[in-house]
Amino acid sequence: MDPFFGQIQPMPHLSTSAPFAGHNPAEHLGAVKPPMHPASTFVFPNAETGAAHLETAYGVPGAEAPERPGYIYSRLSNPTLELAEKRLAAWDASEDALFFASGMAAISTSLLAMTKGGGGVAFCSPLYGGTEHFIREILPLWNIPIRELTGGLDDLESLESPPSCIYLETPANPTLQLHRIQQAADWARAHETPDHPIAVVVDNTYLGPILQRPLEHGADLLVYSATKYIGGHSDLVAGAVSGRGAIVDRVREFRHFLGGMAAPQTAWMLARSMETLAVRVERQQATADRVFEFLRNHPKVDKLHSGWQADLHTESDRAIASEQMHGGGSMAAFEVPGGRPAAFAVLNRLKHFQLAVSLGSTESLAEHPASMTHAGVPPEVKAQHGITEGLIRISIGLEHPEDLIDDLRQALEALA
Ligand code: PLP
Repeated sequence: MDPFFGQIQPMPHLSTSAPFAGHNPAEHLGAVKPPMHPASTFVFPNAETGAAHLETAYGVPGAEAPERPGYIYSRLSNPTLELAEKRLAAWDASEDALFFASGMAAISTSLLAMTKGGGGVAFCSPLYGGTEHFIREILPLWNIPIRELTGGLDDLESLESPPSCIYLETPANPTLQLHRIQQAADWARAHETPDHPIAVVVDNTYLGPILQRPLEHGADLLVYSATKYIGGHSDLVAGAVSGRGAIVDRVREFRHFLGGMAAPQTAWMLARSMETLAVRVERQQATADRVFEFLRNHPKVDKLHSGWQADLHTESDRAIASEQMHGGGSMAAFEVPGGRPAAFAVLNRLKHFQLAVSLGSTESLAEHPASMTHAGVPPEVKAQHGITEGLIRISIGLEHPEDLIDDLRQALEALA
């Protein structure tokens, strides 16, 4: 066979090369699509090689490095997991990426790895409810210091000692608050030392690699709920990290021992989903443009939060969006007058939007953050960030915009 048969050549545009990264048909009998390797363990050619692999992996002093890289055991790595990881790294143009069993596995493992220096985490609320709970309730059980930046990133200036990690979600779930990534990165670079590195970690779930590229604005590590746009079909749960090689290596060490890697079956589906990531996200965003325009002008919608310029309330937010976002995305939250009863009445009347938590899928979804995704967030934090009882969160899918608008129109008649 011609050695170049099926060889994928790198192409100049990300949308040409990233969807296919990590798979070379020439190495797989010419198969256009990658195989899936469910194996939990891998055969060593001889005992010496097995010892070299394991002793090197554990850092045993005097260990002989294996002659060539190879797989050991699927908790540590697996060919299908690596395929998906190469594909995400290609989309993010990052040095390395890792997939996990859930977004929370990615976030909790990263936070433990990034705070091992002792300075703890400085974070901006609001955050996804699970992350907020992990930081506020779980990290302190291990005496890991947590510092909330209640006034946003400007509060970094008043910290008495530097944290080991600055953690942001931008746009934040559910009210789409924005934070300027470059501000966090500049502060970290100015305040870190070789003995006390500061990692800027950004949850990029809401926009993903197509619409926001935080590594280009100085972030060190991205975390994702890959359950959302990266998986994109509400048929898997997964998480990811992506970023600078040395930082991803720190997370990888923790993943080895906490054991939260994604299964090969999930990794295969993620690799497949990443082939259609750009078309899904672009179409969802185009539909969102029409749906949000309708909501913006609806008399019963008090306040629309979205990442679109028209919905950003301050000059500074509009500047942040222009600097670091390539679009407003397809997530929004809007408030209806009348609190929880009014929000529930609207949610219960929806016909096409499905009443479910999660986001970023082919179908449009709606939920009530105050009692669902953010139920565990302390009331004062909810109040501070506008997570009100009248707030409804929506995620736009791939349906026709007119059907979604008609659905919202008839559901909002509940308030007539
Ligand atoms: N980050 C954000 C912004 C989320 O919305 C979610 C889940 O909704 C997570 C993290 C947690 O991800 P997972 O549910 O995949 O564990």
